[in-house]
Amino acid sequence: MKLKIALQKSGRLAEGSTEMLRKCGIGFSNGGGKLRTESEDFPLEIFFLRDDDIPDYVADGVADIGVVVENVLAENPKKVEIVEKLGFGRCRLSIAVPKVFEYGDVNDFAGRRIATSYPKILGEFLAKHKVTADIHQISGSVEIAPSIGLADAVCDLVSSGSTLFSNGLREVETVMNSEAVLISRMGLDGSVAELLAKLLFRIRSVQAASQNKYILLNAPKGNVPEISAVLPGMRSPTIVPLAEPGWVSVHSVISEHDFWDRVDSLKSAGAEGILVLSIEQMIR
Ligand code: ATP
Ligand code: MG
Repeated sequence: MKLKIALQKSGRLAEGSTEMLRKCGIGFSNGGGKLRTESEDFPLEIFFLRDDDIPDYVADGVADIGVVVENVLAENPKKVEIVEKLGFGRCRLSIAVPKVFEYGDVNDFAGRRIATSYPKILGEFLAKHKVTADIHQISGSVEIAPSIGLADAVCDLVSSGSTLFSNGLREVETVMNSEAVLISRMGLDGSVAELLAKLLFRIRSVQAASQNKYILLNAPKGNVPEISAVLPGMRSPTIVPLAEPGWVSVHSVISEHDFWDRVDSLKSAGAEGILVLSIEQMIR
C-alpha cells in the first residue's frame, strides 16, 4: 500500500515540494522528466503534473494528496481537504495600475477594464466592495495589458513586485495572500490515512525546525534566572557547568521571528559567547 502524491512537474512549486519531502527523509529521483516515480525511503508514489490539474487529480482520487497553491484552489474550487499550509510558494494576488493612474480607492475601478488570469477571485473581491468593473480574462503576460491598451489595470500574482515595476505598474490593492498547501481527497481512511498522518508528523517537525533556532551561550551562574526569563524553550533551558567556577553554559530553543530582540535582551542579561544554530528536525 502506497500513498499517492501529486506534485508540480516544474515551476515555482517544484523545488519547494521536493525540498520539503527530502527534509522529511523522503528522497526520489525525477531523472529524464518522468511523470511518475516512487520513493525508496517511504511508501510514496509521486505523480508530476501541471499545478492547475492537481486539485482535479486529488478530487477524483487518482492521487490521495497533492501540493497546490491557494490561489489555484480559490480560482477553481474542488472537493478536497486542505490539510496543512506549507510555508513556501508565497505570493499575493494584487491589483496594479499604471503609474499615471491617480488611484484613491477601489471605487476608482468602477467601469474600468482589469486584465487577469483570476476572474473568479477578482470578481468576488469587486463584488465584496460593490464595484462593477469589466474583467478581461487572459491566460498569461497580464502585466503588459495596460501598455498595449488592453486594460486600465491588472490583477496578477506578485512576489517581489519587480515584474510590475519594470512594466511601469504600481500595486494598489492586495486581493489575496497565497502559499503552497497540502491537500487530500475527501474521506481518506485506513492505511492510506495512517501514511498521511506519518508524513504530516514529519512535515510539522520540519516546519517547527525551520521556525526555530538552537541557542547556546555562556553566563555567570548568578545571571541564570534573568537569562531563563528571556528564553521560552521547549521546557526550561539546559544549564551545564563550565570548567571555570561560577560560569555555566545555557542551551535553549528560540523562535526565529523575534530572535534578534531576544539576543539583545540576552546580552543585557549578561550572556556572552552566544552561538545560534539551525535545527534539522524538531520532534514534539
Ligand atoms: P504549471 O506549468 O505547473 O501550470 P504555472 O506556470 O501555472 O505552472 P508557476 O509559474 O510555477 O505556475 O507558479 C505556480 C504558483 O507559484 C503560482 O500559482 C503562485 O501561487 C506561486 N507564485 C509565487 N511567486 C509568484 C510570482 N512572482 N509570480 C507568479 N506566481 C508566483
Ligand atoms: Mg499552472
